Amino acid sequence: MDLATLWYLTTGTLLVAAAMTLWERKAQAQRARELGLWAAAYGIFAFGCVLAMNRSLLPGVTGPAITNVVMMFGYLLALQGILALDGKRLHPSLMAALLAAIGAAWLVAGAGAASLFWNHISAFPIAVVCAVAALVLLRSRTAAGLRSRPIAVAAFACHGLFYGARTFAAPILTTIYGNDMLPIVAELTMYEAVLFIVTMSMSLLALVREEDRARLVATARTDFLTGLNNRQGFFELAPQHLARAGRHASCTLLAIDLDHFKAINDRYGHEAGDRVLKLFASITKEIAGPDAMSARLGGEEFAILLPDMDGEEARLIGQSIARRFADTAVRHDGLAIPATVSIGMAETRGREAELSALLGAADHALYRAKMLGRNRIEIAGPEQVAKAA
Ligand code: GH3
Ligand code: MG
Ligand code: MG
Repeated sequence: MDLATLWYLTTGTLLVAAAMTLWERKAQAQRARELGLWAAAYGIFAFGCVLAMNRSLLPGVTGPAITNVVMMFGYLLALQGILALDGKRLHPSLMAALLAAIGAAWLVAGAGAASLFWNHISAFPIAVVCAVAALVLLRSRTAAGLRSRPIAVAAFACHGLFYGARTFAAPILTTIYGNDMLPIVAELTMYEAVLFIVTMSMSLLALVREEDRARLVATARTDFLTGLNNRQGFFELAPQHLARAGRHASCTLLAIDLDHFKAINDRYGHEAGDRVLKLFASITKEIAGPDAMSARLGGEEFAILLPDMDGEEARLIGQSIARRFADTAVRHDGLAIPATVSIGMAETRGREAELSALLGAADHALYRAKMLGRNRIEIAGPEQVAKAA
């Protein structure tokens, strides 16, 4: 394949990548900035390719100098998009200073050594920016755990290594094998460029889509009113917590039901009832802590799974949630709404237990708490957990 064909292929690939990224941008409002920056980067690269193909038409080294500055601008925009994933950015004045420095280097030193600059030295800043992009992706909290992250990291790392090799290894090869090496390096450069563009653009798109999917899954598992897990989230996630704790640790489950909640709704209205539910959820989050798995199973029924926690500790947590809730009455139209909860507790006691068995036993204890007058905590005996299993 001749060099001109490779230039056209690269330009076309860039334009397709830009168009696809812009199309995705329409569907991903929360990542519009990142996708916009990447699409702009591909567009700038394509413009750089057109400049590169026509660089000899401009006087002196202005052609390669402008091409090089334009290409670097593209790389910096791609990096800017990656930084934006975590709310970070390169200051525009730093970008401008880098580009001005590259332009100045071309005009001052490049004039006498255009070939050395074009083939080797100009590759170095690109290698550095790609290494930085790979590192930023490796440390990104947004990209953490996403399957496409290693691919995006590899794309930038490999491209950076290739440009590092162009800077340091290619001059040695040229010294050994003579100037015949230059067209081979140029063709390799364009061939690698196509692979890089495809991998970079696809992996960055995949990153944004995966993040969006994770957000949707989290939304599907979250109760809209209280922000706790909903029933689906609880039944999907709690078994994993239980399995992780396994035989060696005790897990405790609290089943909680608000007392006479229908009467609260009837007396103060549904909106006031909602505020009571929200208050209960915020108290639960605060007291049960980040390791607990709290959920609204439906209506005014809640569950808290406390992994790695024995019954005594869990009972104290249940009690302080109940006490704080009873003491913190929601105010509505100048009236203080009194509300209490009943709690049923069941513990695995270091045995493997099915979630449904644990929930069944806790529910049974909760029923007893209701029977015994509400606003109290009742504990399921070990035989109840076994029986429910
Ligand atoms: P008990 O002490 O026996 O649990 O009595 P209760 O009144 O709390 O129980 P019951 O099951 O009779 O009533 C539950 C009420 O919860 C009925 C329903 O209107 C109300 N409820 C369910 N979901 C919501 C909600 O999202 N918001 C509000 N405000 N009320 C809800
Ligand atoms: Mg109730
Ligand atoms: Mg109920």
